[in-house]
Amino acid sequence: MEFVIEPQQQASVAVANHAARWPVRRIFCVGRNYAAHAREMGRDPDREPPFFFTKPADAVVDDGQTIPYPPETENLHYEAEMIVAIGKGGRDIAESDALDHVWGYGVGNDLTRRDLQFAARELGRPWDWGKAFDNSAVIAPLHPVSEVGHPKTGAIRLTVNQDVRQEADLAELIWSVPEIIAILSRSMALKPGDLIMTGTPAGVGPLVPGDVCTATVEGLGSCTVTIGPRA
Ligand code: MN
Repeated sequence: MEFVIEPQQQASVAVANHAARWPVRRIFCVGRNYAAHAREMGRDPDREPPFFFTKPADAVVDDGQTIPYPPETENLHYEAEMIVAIGKGGRDIAESDALDHVWGYGVGNDLTRRDLQFAARELGRPWDWGKAFDNSAVIAPLHPVSEVGHPKTGAIRLTVNQDVRQEADLAELIWSVPEIIAILSRSMALKPGDLIMTGTPAGVGPLVPGDVCTATVEGLGSCTVTIGPRA
């Protein structure tokens, strides 16, 4: 195919123990999927239907990178999350079939310009400026289901300069992975390459230039990002 301008490279993330990489299509994120985090965000964690927001595929950052402190914020936050990698597409996927669509799992950091997110929230505006900025999705190397199965329990934790800031268990997810896939695929077709960030536990907080932030999920490895000077 010919294009009138040079197309950008396919955005991708690493796969553990493989040279080949994962081509990222879209990044779906689940909002408020741990009760204690919903409360710290000033919301009731009642089991209302989950809601979603997205990040662009090319917001991804590999483990071990340094990123500039992002522009137009005074309150950059970390959010440790388990990531689901969709290997087989579909729409209106039944909960009972949902795990067949999962290729693998990982751990990520849903970096958030909290001040811009809250300003948008108060005004009923979209969250993109708070959530979908450059370098906002730090993603550890993915692990295939053939190696790690389908994790339903396991510690999820995050450290800043080696101090523990978030510590919870995947068992505390309000909406499970099969439920998330079923609900998401009712609204739009999932396709291979889509990633789902499943939500963060309580303990979110700020990052400043110089911080080294590591998110870990038991059995799925970790991703570390260093916050550099302002862009
Ligand atoms: Mn999040």
